[in-house]
Amino acid sequence: MMTLDTFSFQNQRVLVRVDFNVPMDAHFNVTDDTRMRATLPTINKIIDGGGKVILMSHRGRPKGIDEDLSMKHLVPHLSKLLSKEVKFINQCVGKEAVDLTNSLENGEVLLIENLRFYKEETTGDISFAKELAKLGDIYVNDAFGTAHRAHASTAIIAQFFDKNKCFGYVMSNEIENINKVTGGAKKPFTAIVGGAKVSSKITIILRLMDEVDNLIIGGGMTFTFIKATGGKVGNSLVEDDKLDLALDIIQKAKEKGVNLYLPSDSVNADKFDNDAATNFSRIQDIPSGYMGLDIGKETAQQFSKVVLDSATVLWNGPMGVFEMENFSHGTKAVAEALSEATRKGTYTLVGGGDSVAAINKYGLADKVSYVSTGGGAMLEYLEGKVLPGIAAILED
Ligand code: AMP
Repeated sequence: MMTLDTFSFQNQRVLVRVDFNVPMDAHFNVTDDTRMRATLPTINKIIDGGGKVILMSHRGRPKGIDEDLSMKHLVPHLSKLLSKEVKFINQCVGKEAVDLTNSLENGEVLLIENLRFYKEETTGDISFAKELAKLGDIYVNDAFGTAHRAHASTAIIAQFFDKNKCFGYVMSNEIENINKVTGGAKKPFTAIVGGAKVSSKITIILRLMDEVDNLIIGGGMTFTFIKATGGKVGNSLVEDDKLDLALDIIQKAKEKGVNLYLPSDSVNADKFDNDAATNFSRIQDIPSGYMGLDIGKETAQQFSKVVLDSATVLWNGPMGVFEMENFSHGTKAVAEALSEATRKGTYTLVGGGDSVAAINKYGLADKVSYVSTGGGAMLEYLEGKVLPGIAAILED
């Protein structure tokens, strides 16, 4: 299989699927360019190799053409990041676009319009993919965040490039790092799963149970487990239709010899508000009228100890309502434990929207081994699903 490092890009038109789905303010300034910066090594590799770069991405969820979501707004920022004038065309397919790609000089960069201005992108239309494919001689997929979608530009297009296709560095890094925790992770292996609901994490929990030595559960989903085992949870978040499932997970952990850690104490509030009246209790004894919004100190210490005794740690989902200062301490403690464990040689992977936000909030993103920006794609990969965007590159 070809890679960015084995291709010769000289004189080639290289069509790169990137993830430039970045937030902007009302004046079209990019407010978080993490995703753009992440793709610079891929783009620069092609430029340095004498190739012509054609970039394509989606942004937002437009229904048809929506000027606010045009890619043209990204041109100034991208030009600055690349230190060269980026060209733009307000189309994705057609003769004009193809002609423009053919007129590019080696080392030039062209950004095409928002792929989702065409409904054929998300429906995975094969004729649209074939038209897009005319824009390049080589196809590079560097958009891990959409790898779980079988869209025209992320998967369907690959069949028109035969062997002239490869992953970009963002993609290959994500795959390499997630593979470190799927099969063959160094033991002891601990997974920390938090966040709001059991229902959205169930597949990943069941899958991880075959791999991990320790499974730590925190966040809102805790209370479904506590209620299922007879605890008093007050007004805490509970999925009443998942009580049996929670008992099932507890049973499975026993059968598989996985140490299941649930919180032992809780920080409670009388309403879902940073300024709510608060108290502390054992987790199974939350006073009526109160809801658990963060793990308590004892729990934070215990979870941290498990993390520090691990060789591999995967963290997905916050331990409490970390967006509110008064209920952020448990999540912060876990983030700090991961950072300390990393310093001592533990491999630590943080992934999934809110834990990434948390690790960034505490300024610890560069103190853990890897922060996956994949979101939904990362979760599906961890669940063991074959991602269309990955399969399309791997297939001959
Ligand atoms: P998820 O997207 O499933 O990872 O859930 C993340 C969300 O769960 C965050 O916005 C947290 O505020 C929320 N969350 C965490 N702990 C709790 C809790 N104890 N009660 C209610 N929501 C929570």
